[in-house]
Amino acid sequence: MPRSTRTTTTRRRARGSNAVTTDASGDRARAFLGILDLEQSRTFNNKAVSGGLDRFLGSWQKESGTQPLLRRLEEADLLSVAYASLSTDARAKWVEKARSLSIDSFGSSSSATPGKRPSVDSAMSPQRPVSVLRSVTSRVASPLRKLGLESVGDLIRLFPRRHNQVRRIGDIQPDQEQTVVGGLWGSPSPPRRGDPRRIIEAAFFDDTGNIRVVWYNQPYLARSLKADTRYVLSGRVSIYQGRLVLSSPHHEELRSGDSLEQLVQPGRLFPVYPLTEGITQQTMRRVVREALARGADGVQEILPEDILHRNGLPEVRRALWQAHYPDTGDSYEEARRRLAFEELLLLQLAVLAHRKAAEGQGGGVALVPPTGLLDAFLDSLPFRLTSSQRRVLDEVLGDMARGGRPMSRLLQGEVGSGKTVVALAALVVAAACGYQGAIMAPTEVLAEQHFLTVRRLLKGLADPAQSEFHLSITLAPLPRPITVGLLLGSMTAKQKREMHGLLSEGALDVIIGTHAIIQDDVGIPRLGLAVVDEQQRFGVMQRAALRRRGDSAHLLVMSATPIPRTLALTLYGDLDLSTIDELPPGRQTIRTRVVETSRRFAVYDFIRKEIEAGRQAFVIYPLIDESEAINARAAVKESDRLATDVFPNQRVGLLHGRMAMSEKQEVMDRFRNDEIDVLVSTPVVEVGIDVPNATVMLIEGADRFGLAQLHQFRGRVGRGEHASYCILVAEAPSDDARERLSAMERIDDGFQLAEVDLQLRGPGDYFGTRQSGLPDLRMARLTDTDILALAREEARTILDRDPALTEPEHAALAQALSRFTAPVGGEVG
Ligand code: ADP
Ligand code: MG
Repeated sequence: MPRSTRTTTTRRRARGSNAVTTDASGDRARAFLGILDLEQSRTFNNKAVSGGLDRFLGSWQKESGTQPLLRRLEEADLLSVAYASLSTDARAKWVEKARSLSIDSFGSSSSATPGKRPSVDSAMSPQRPVSVLRSVTSRVASPLRKLGLESVGDLIRLFPRRHNQVRRIGDIQPDQEQTVVGGLWGSPSPPRRGDPRRIIEAAFFDDTGNIRVVWYNQPYLARSLKADTRYVLSGRVSIYQGRLVLSSPHHEELRSGDSLEQLVQPGRLFPVYPLTEGITQQTMRRVVREALARGADGVQEILPEDILHRNGLPEVRRALWQAHYPDTGDSYEEARRRLAFEELLLLQLAVLAHRKAAEGQGGGVALVPPTGLLDAFLDSLPFRLTSSQRRVLDEVLGDMARGGRPMSRLLQGEVGSGKTVVALAALVVAAACGYQGAIMAPTEVLAEQHFLTVRRLLKGLADPAQSEFHLSITLAPLPRPITVGLLLGSMTAKQKREMHGLLSEGALDVIIGTHAIIQDDVGIPRLGLAVVDEQQRFGVMQRAALRRRGDSAHLLVMSATPIPRTLALTLYGDLDLSTIDELPPGRQTIRTRVVETSRRFAVYDFIRKEIEAGRQAFVIYPLIDESEAINARAAVKESDRLATDVFPNQRVGLLHGRMAMSEKQEVMDRFRNDEIDVLVSTPVVEVGIDVPNATVMLIEGADRFGLAQLHQFRGRVGRGEHASYCILVAEAPSDDARERLSAMERIDDGFQLAEVDLQLRGPGDYFGTRQSGLPDLRMARLTDTDILALAREEARTILDRDPALTEPEHAALAQALSRFTAPVGGEVG
C-alpha cells in the first residue's frame, strides 16, 4: 500500500472518537485485551465493563458475530458459559485463555480477514527506522539517535527506568511520584509579575477529589493547558502547608478513545523512561507508545512454545506491552522475567556453543609437579594459604594434571583475597614440568606490579636479579632455577629483543606482561599455562583469541571484580569456575566516608593524628587523564603542595607510573619500612601493595573512579591490626557518581558493590559485552539466579536435541543468535 494512503488511514482512525467502534479486528482485539487486563487487575470481580462481561460479549456478538476474535472465543468454548457464574479461579483461567486468543488475533488479524482493509498497526516490522512513526518529528529524531534508538524495535526495547503508580486523586500518597488522570478547574493562572520562579498553578480534579498543581519556569503552559481537556499528569506529590501539591508534573493530553485511556486506569503503572537532552518524558512516552502500538505485533516470538509453557512465561508481545504499561507490579515482574529469560537463554546458547568448539580442540598436556615441589614453594611464602586458596589451587592443579583437554578456568575472588599467589603456584608447576607460563595484565602498570609481587613473595628464593626485568628462583626439588621475566611495551628495543630471544629459545620459564604478549608474534614455543589477570577488562572475543593463540595451553583467567556464581557461569559459561571466598586472616572492615572538598583540612588533621599514632596514609591522586604522563605531572605538583603546606613535619613520598621501575621499587620499600608517612600516588597503587601499618586511604577526585576501582584502593588498607579508614573526596559529583560514592559508604562487600555498579552502569559496560558481541542484558539482573538456572537448563536441552539449531521451531532462535555470535572467531580489534 502506498505510504500516503496508509498515513491518512491511520490519522483518520486515530482521530476517530472511539477506537472500540472501528471494525479493524486488531483494534477490537486490543480493546478487548484492555478489558481483560482491567478485569484481572480488579481481581476478576466482573466490573471491568459496566453491566459485566456477559452483557458486553452478548452485544458484541449481536453487532458483529463474524468478527474473527469472537469466532475464536466461541471455538475455545468461552462463550457457552456465563462469566458471572464462574468462581474466581475459573474466571482467572477464562481471562487468561481469552487473553491469549486476543493476542494471537493481533498478529494474524490481517490474514484472518482477507479482502478487508489490513490492519495498519500489525503490519510494521520492528526493523523499520524510527522515522516511520508519526510522533518522531525531525526534532525528536536526533536525541533518539543519541540514545542509540534507530529502529522501531529499539524503541520497543527501551525499557522504562521505573514506573509510577496511577492513582485516583483521593488515593494520592505524599512523597512519591504518581500519575493522575483528570481535568483542570480553569486554565492555570499566569505567573505573578517579578516572580523569579515564574510559578503557574492550577487545581486538578477527578471524581474522587482535587489537588493543587504548580509548575516552575514553564509560563507558556498557562496558555497551552486548557480547561476542557483531560490530562494525564505525572509528577512528585509533596505536602506544602498541610496540603498535597503536585509539582511540575509532565502532562499528556487524553483524548477519548485514545489507547492511552486503557493504560491510565487507576491501579496500573505508568512508565518513566531514560532521557537525553532534547527530548521530554511526555514525548518519549508518546514515541514509545506508538512504536509499541504499531510495531509490537511485528516482533517475532523466538522462544519455542514448549519452553514458554514449561516455564510459565508470557508470550513476547504481551511481555513487551506489560514491560512498559504493566497492569500491576506482578505482571511487570512476569514480563521482566520473560524478557530476562530470553536474554539469558541467548547468552547461554552462545556460550555453550563456544565451549563446545573449545573442547573440540583437544590438546592439553598433563602437567604433574615433581614430588615435594609444591610444598617447597608454599613453605617459602611469608604466609600460609587460606583454606579457600588451597582449595582453589587444588582445582587448578587438578585441571592441569589431567591431560586430553586444556584447563579453562575462571578464578574469582574479592580484592586482596590472594589470587596472585595461586596463579604463581600454578606457573611454578608448569615451569617445573618443563613448560613455559605467561601471566598477562590489562595494563603495563599492573604487569609491573605483578613482577614486583613475585619478586617480593619469593624474596628468599630469588637470586640477585640478573637484570631489572629478569630474576631466577631456586626451589630445592628442582635441578635448575626457574627464570621469570618482564616484558613491557615501554622497555627499550634492546631490552625487548633480549626478552623475546630468551622466550623463543625456551630459556625463560615465566613471562609477565600485558596481553600484547599473546597478540604480538612473540614466540613462546613451550607455552603450557596462560594466566590472564583482571578478566573483567577483557572481552569474550579476546578470550577466544587467547584460546587460539595458546593452542592447547591451559588457561586461567582471574577476575578482581566478584560476580555472583550463577551469573559468572552464564557470562563465562565457557569456563569452569573457582572462587576464593575468604580474605587472609586479620583483615578489617574499613570505615568509609564521603567528604566535601570544603572539609579537606579536617581530613588532613585526621591523617596527622594517625601518623602521630604511628600509622601511615595513602593519598590517591585522581586519574585526570588517560595519559599517565599528565597524571604523573599532577601528582608531582600535589605531593609538593602536601609536603610543604600540609604535612611539613611528616615524610611525604611520591609514586607514579612515569618513574623507573627501580625508583618505584625503592619508594615502595621505603613506605613498607615506615620511612614514608604519606604516600601520594597516581592509581598505580591499585594492586599489589601490602602495608599493614597503613590505615588511611584518601582518594581525591573519587567521583572519577568506578566502584570496582574504588573498592580496589580501599583494599590497600585494613590489612593490619589497626582500625582503618577510606576517605572519598569529590569536587562536584554527578548524580550517578554521588550514588556510587554513597554505595561505597554503605557496602563493604565486593559482590554487592558489583551489583550496584551493574545497576548504575548497565551490564554492557560492566562486563565489556558491548565490544564482545554479546547481547545487551537489559532486563536480566545479577540477582536473577533462578532465571539463570532455568535458561541454562533450557539451553542445554535445546542443544542436546538440536545442536545446530536446524529444527523449524528453533529457526527464530538461531536467527536471533546469529545476530550476535557472528563475530566469534573474528579477530580482536
Ligand atoms: P588479589 O586477589 O586482589 O589479586 P593479591 O593476590 O594481590 O590479591 O593479594 C593481596 C595481598 O595479600 C598480597 O600482598 C599477598 O601477598 C597477600 N596474601 C595473599 N595470600 C595471603 C595469605 N594466605 N595470608 C596472608 N596474606 C596473603
Ligand atoms: Mg590481583
